[in-house]
Amino acid sequence: MSKKPYIISGPCSAETEEQLIETAKQLVKYNSIDCLRAGIWKPRTRPNSFEGVGEIGLKWLKTAGVETNLPVTTEVANAKHVELALKNEIDVLWIGARTTTNPFSVQEIADALKGVDISVMIKNPINPDLQLWIGAIERVYQAGIKNVKVIHRGFSSYENSPFRNNPKWEIPIELKSLFPNIPIICDPSHIGGKRNLIETISQKAMDLEMDGLMIESHIFPNDAWSDAEQQITPKELQKVLSRLIIRQTAIQNEDLKDKLSELRTQIDIIDEEIISQLARRMDIVAKIGSHKSNNNVTILQAKRWENIILNRKNIAKSLGISEGMIESILKTIHEESINIQTRILNNEKH
Ligand code: PEP
Ligand code: MN
Repeated sequence: MSKKPYIISGPCSAETEEQLIETAKQLVKYNSIDCLRAGIWKPRTRPNSFEGVGEIGLKWLKTAGVETNLPVTTEVANAKHVELALKNEIDVLWIGARTTTNPFSVQEIADALKGVDISVMIKNPINPDLQLWIGAIERVYQAGIKNVKVIHRGFSSYENSPFRNNPKWEIPIELKSLFPNIPIICDPSHIGGKRNLIETISQKAMDLEMDGLMIESHIFPNDAWSDAEQQITPKELQKVLSRLIIRQTAIQNEDLKDKLSELRTQIDIIDEEIISQLARRMDIVAKIGSHKSNNNVTILQAKRWENIILNRKNIAKSLGISEGMIESILKTIHEESINIQTRILNNEKH
């Protein structure tokens, strides 16, 4: 059955008490949100930009929460932050993406949380490393924290992309299959980096059965002291949330179940065929490797590789499937082919 997503919203940063309280009031006026967020200490990429209001903001955040009857959450990056957040009765803590990358910091936070009954959300590390994300979850669990959620906020990438942080949806999906009981919150604000991307990313998160959304909101987004381009007003949030389609997770309709199961069987058979054909391809690669080795020819023949990509992309185009997808599959296959041939070259030389 479909269930309402858990919604966290509030400004990227607490700026003034008025900004925070007014944003919170408008959020509850236009939406039914579950938790109010605000960054108090801001991890900025470069120095000399606004780095958060610090401790005083915790009081504002708590007051905004009390006035709107909402639990409140902020980012903690070290033991001192934890201590101050607890002192100010912040209800939920989150570990930011830059902190999750550093096991020393995560352990320091986990140690500061030992014996505390509080809910903790762990953002994915900025680099696409699932093990590092899992490691942070384990450290927090080992501190005795029972209520853990994770936040998917995308991954840094040097490549050209419409996203500020590449979503790499396969990573949170794998996490979900390893830890089915940990709720996953998607953060479309930091994935998109632009407000016009929030709606489609949120919809995708819902279609992938994620459990909630963390969306940055501000009474005057354009004037925000951090992340101005990605914040939306509480009223705009209402529009985004009201347009979300929450699809059923379990299939009730028997006919549909049968139809899907038939189609899935077809997919299983095709996948098997693809894998056996790949095995045949690798056998041939090995034969070529032996010939190259016997005749002292280099592995990489750049011209041939260029032609392969061009030709296969044309085939993809004529069949109406994504050329980019075929290119990336071929690159993976090529990498494996080079590995196989390198092994053959090394073995036969020694
Ligand atoms: C934030 O939520 O404002 C933030 C700094 O996020 P992240 O750690 O995902 O960059
Ligand atoms: Mn932000």
